[in-house]
Amino acid sequence: MITNLGSPLTDDQFQQLTSLVSGLNRDQIIWSSGYLAGATSQSTYTNTESNAIQTEQQTDIINNTDKSSTKALTIIYGSRTGNGEMLAKKMEEIAKEKGFKVNLQSAASYKTRDLQNEKNLVVIVSTHGDGVPPFAARELHEFIYSKRAPKLENTTFAVLALGDSTYYHFCKAGVDFDNQLEKLGGKRLVQRAECDVDFEEQADKWIKDTLSAFSGPEITASKPTPQFTMIANAKPANKSVETVRYSKKNPFKAPVLEKINLNGKGSDRKTIHIELSTDKALEYQPGDSAGVIPVNSVELINEVLQTSALSGDTLVETNGKRISLREALYSEYELSKITKDVVGKYFIYCPNPKLKKLIENPEKLQKYLHGRDVVDLLTDFPTKVNAEDLIKFLKPLQPRYYSISSSPLACPGELHLTVGVVEYENAGRAKKGTCSSFLSEVEVENEEVSIFIESNPGFRLPENNQTPIIMVGAGTGIAPYRAFVQHREELVNSGKSWLFFGNRNFETEFFYQTEWQDFIKNGTLTKMDVAFSRDGDDKKYVQHRLLENASEVYQWLEEGAHFYICGDMKYMAADVEKALVEIVEKEASLSKEEATKYVDNLQQEKRLQLDVY
Ligand code: NAP
Repeated sequence: MITNLGSPLTDDQFQQLTSLVSGLNRDQIIWSSGYLAGATSQSTYTNTESNAIQTEQQTDIINNTDKSSTKALTIIYGSRTGNGEMLAKKMEEIAKEKGFKVNLQSAASYKTRDLQNEKNLVVIVSTHGDGVPPFAARELHEFIYSKRAPKLENTTFAVLALGDSTYYHFCKAGVDFDNQLEKLGGKRLVQRAECDVDFEEQADKWIKDTLSAFSGPEITASKPTPQFTMIANAKPANKSVETVRYSKKNPFKAPVLEKINLNGKGSDRKTIHIELSTDKALEYQPGDSAGVIPVNSVELINEVLQTSALSGDTLVETNGKRISLREALYSEYELSKITKDVVGKYFIYCPNPKLKKLIENPEKLQKYLHGRDVVDLLTDFPTKVNAEDLIKFLKPLQPRYYSISSSPLACPGELHLTVGVVEYENAGRAKKGTCSSFLSEVEVENEEVSIFIESNPGFRLPENNQTPIIMVGAGTGIAPYRAFVQHREELVNSGKSWLFFGNRNFETEFFYQTEWQDFIKNGTLTKMDVAFSRDGDDKKYVQHRLLENASEVYQWLEEGAHFYICGDMKYMAADVEKALVEIVEKEASLSKEEATKYVDNLQQEKRLQLDVY
């Protein structure tokens, strides 16, 4: 046991420190030690006792810091996967080095009344589903469109939009913020950046350019206050640890341990439970997602080659490699879906008047894109392309993200996914989802799956293990709850938990049924309510079960329960939230407005969390 003997801290301070450290993981501890080392430089500024360790370098920095010359910059981020947050933090760091006084805020906790006072504002926001901002930025987004939105004549702003161009409403939330801030009177300082899933390079450049644009004559000197280099020998602790960081560009190749179809006999759908070995090389937390890098199916590649009348053996230059067209189509390009970008570029090679008409009609184009692939485009608007041209209009193949359905405590060295296999017919051909069919067909023990971890800080078990949790999920939205409940089984003294699960049929789609029964038996799961929508005459969904249990659900919320929603964003999540407002309205005898505020507060306090697609 570590005691306070010999430390310069009071007992209270020592207790606070040990309680903080006990809640941190290894990476957080390493980062914090670097942070604390850097923080000692601040105390030399005010604390004369510390002057003994003040180095020459520090003296320079202190003398050069002219606080009165700093310019205020507020950076607001609305992030779901953490990419927006990561970029906002990166921008904060560079801005501080440039002498800005930075106010970094998550949109979720940003006080909307402060907006009118912002002089220099950056908004970094992602877009999801049908063009909506992430849950965290929803309130701010609504606010700027509301009657209460202030005039922003004194605000200079810039917007960085994140999105995925395979969706029709690419970067829409960012576009909304950009347009609306201008409508409110704000002055746009730089053009909005619209970053696709490969955002790093473009975002880095935009951050650099934007900060240069914001640096007016007011920014005079203020040298950076490097966090880790203030004290001689105080190295950035986290950089001294040699760990391999797996990422989209450097994924971990995970052997497949097991694969099971969760749908029972007679089901017309397929849902894969797949277990991958991580060999403990990947660290994740319950609630995180895994990025999976798929490859295209041989059948689809053959169809593309046949329709374009090209040989798969032709060599092409792609990403600095010279490989065969067949290989390029296998692992480098999206074939199963097309976007307006792809169609626009294809028009350069195929200036067909019909295609022109389609491109000029956004509504018709959106309809056309839905469910169509590269083979459809080549068939509907035939033209002669060579192999190099073909790869020029295709989009790079992107990872797909799935919520992890295992707990690292319960399944050390493993990572499980729950994947609905996408299969449908469109434009006269059978189609398959690229990644779900890749995972469904991957061979156990013979093949590997390239994966990396995508942190999901907005979907976490409560810090206090005793806090009750209510989990609501439909279909494959059950995935993260398996991780949550497995995890709580491993921890001692876990609080109450309640699972609401919905799917089509009890017989064929009660995913992980026996596991839930075991969790109920051993007390890890306190309650479970299910809704099978296609078993009876009436459609019963998870929100109906919530409403049937309104009084107890409200009681749990009043006891401090965290409430989670996972599944389809457009209908299910919206309806569950509506039900939650209804429950609060009825049980607390509040007006609809007050009940909505209660639910909004749950979100502010991070007690209402969503993992929705
Ligand atoms: P699904 O079949 O779309 O839906 C499952 C159940 O939800 C069905 O019983 C369905 O009923 C019902 N449902 C339909 N509309 C609803 C509504 N408005 N409110 C409540 N329930 C409703 O499930 P799925 O195909 O597995 O898709 C699940 C969704 O979760 C997808 O959007 C997926 O992207 C998302 N998701 C997946 C993961 C993952 O890791 N795999 C993680 C997070 C989110 P009927 O069809 O009978 O109307």
